[in-house]
Amino acid sequence: MAMVPIVREPVRTPPFLVTAIEPIIIIGSRGDNMQQSIQKAAEILLSAANAVALTGAGISTESGIPDFRSPGGLWTKVDPGEFSIDRFLQNPARFWRLHLDLKASGEFNLASADPNPAHIALARLEKLGIIKCVITQNVDNLHQKAGSVEVVEFHGNMLRAACIRCKSSEPIEEVEARFVNGDPKAIRCRKCEGVLKPDAVFFGEAIPAKAMTISQVQAHKCDVLLVIGTSLQVYPAAQIPMSVKLKYPPATVIEINREPSALHQQVTDILMLGSAGGVMTQLLNAVEALQRN
Ligand code: NAD
Repeated sequence: MAMVPIVREPVRTPPFLVTAIEPIIIIGSRGDNMQQSIQKAAEILLSAANAVALTGAGISTESGIPDFRSPGGLWTKVDPGEFSIDRFLQNPARFWRLHLDLKASGEFNLASADPNPAHIALARLEKLGIIKCVITQNVDNLHQKAGSVEVVEFHGNMLRAACIRCKSSEPIEEVEARFVNGDPKAIRCRKCEGVLKPDAVFFGEAIPAKAMTISQVQAHKCDVLLVIGTSLQVYPAAQIPMSVKLKYPPATVIEINREPSALHQQVTDILMLGSAGGVMTQLLNAVEALQRN
């Protein structure tokens, strides 16, 4: 389906003005226009000094892991409140039972998922020296599995369990195996008997300090931000694209999503609408072709 692109003329702003309100250029891409956007995005990435990626659940849907907000996403099946720290602390065993049921249903089985072409293309861009860091909101470990090295786990990692008291962690599969018969001792830390919780950030919890600091430093340094598969509705992660636009000079933001993010009008310079796997593969091919020439 060919769509008429939305193209805005570049807006020049002096240093004391922010560019978050008026993006430089937005190219909405479907069909015929996609090649033009891929080419432009590849050129921008290739000339970037510090390109950073920000990813969300949408990059992993092609690996069989549902996102939260798309039709059929996790929130249509599970009450988001179950992932709040308050409710978890009221009854940790209840949460662990729900977690095991979700895993058994195949709805959210992170351990068995494999990286898809989007994760692989991103890892390749890092190897080529183009992407310096991936800040991910995902908790599925798929960037690491694909070979990305500089990964900031902004919301933690659901393949680990950690003690809420002494912070020691272990593979979540070991806790799951111990808890399968519902033994309450199974979800207690073996060092200090504190409660074990998946090592992911629940609603109401703070972002891990190290991840927050590194993300801020990366956002400050970055000149190109590649946003992939995120609705940009979850804060403070959604502040990252805002912050790269509010600094001077602002970074260029390239967005790849099935649907435009909530902030695309404020932050996005090149918007490519399509599947992350397909678009990222084309983008990688275009970057490699430019490098050869
Ligand atoms: P979200 O569900 O709010 O938004 C997902 C976005 O990705 C949407 O804009 C959607 O259009 C897009 N999308 C879906 N499939 C796509 C595809 N194949 N190609 C391109 N775009 C696609 O997700 P979010 O913004 O990441 O926020 C939700 C929170 O949920 C995050 O904090 C994350 O930690 C957590 N989460 C993580 C996982 C995971 O680790 N895989 C899965 C679900 C939720």
